[in-house]
Order: sequence, then structure tokens, then C-alpha cells
Amino acid sequence: MHELSIASALRDQVLQHLPQSLVLRRASLDVGTLEHLDPAVLRIAWDSLASIPRLQGSALDIRHVPVRLRCRACDREYAPPHQAQLSCPHCSHTRPEVLEGWGIVLVSLETGPPDEERADQQNG
Ligand SMILES: [Zn+2]
Repeated sequence: MHELSIASALRDQVLQHLPQSLVLRRASLDVGTLEHLDPAVLRIAWDSLASIPRLQGSALDIRHVPVRLRCRACDREYAPPHQAQLSCPHCSHTRPEVLEGWGIVLVSLETGPPDEERADQQNG
């Protein structure tokens, strides 16, 4: 599963940046449309991997980055009308350069102090 390996890499990256004394509240991602990621599946994969207490219950914000291409023949930039049709609308050249819309980037982390009350819930 594509999403599971991405979530796993993401967790490693988050743990590298997360100070020891803090917990993760939210991680924000930029995901290129060409990655064909299913955000719902990625969230499920994230929840299953984020069983470390400092990551538990953290939210995942996924922003889709639309595809932008530049034609190698006529040098014009364009957004493809459809992902299955990337050829240049001006000259029909079929091998554009991808300017945006690829890759997965961890943009920001929202952290906070550990929530002591979450582990110590009321028993009525
Ligand atoms: Zn062109």
C-alpha cells in the first residue's frame, strides 16, 4: 500500500523534528495531484502508525497541489484539464516538464505540551 509507506516515512520525519517534551497536534502536508494519494487512506494509515503516545490523536492536514506543466516545445505553461491528458493544449507536444504537482512535502507541525488529563480520565 502506497499510503502506508508514505505514512511511515512521514512519522519518521515528524519524530525527527518534534522536541522531546512536546506532543504533536497537527501535521500539514502538501501533496502533488500526480501522486494519486487517497487522503482518507493516508489518514487511516497515519492513525495506525501514530500509536506512539506523542503522536496519538494528531490531525493530518492534506493540501492538494494542482499540476502545472511547461511545454518543452513551445515553452508555454499550462494546467492540464485532466490528469490523463498532459499534452500541450497549444501545440500538442506530449512530454511536458512538470513544474508543480509532484511530491509530498511536510510543511508544518503544530505541537503542544502533553495533555496529562487525557491519560488520567475521570471514572465517574
Ligand atoms: Zn506546446
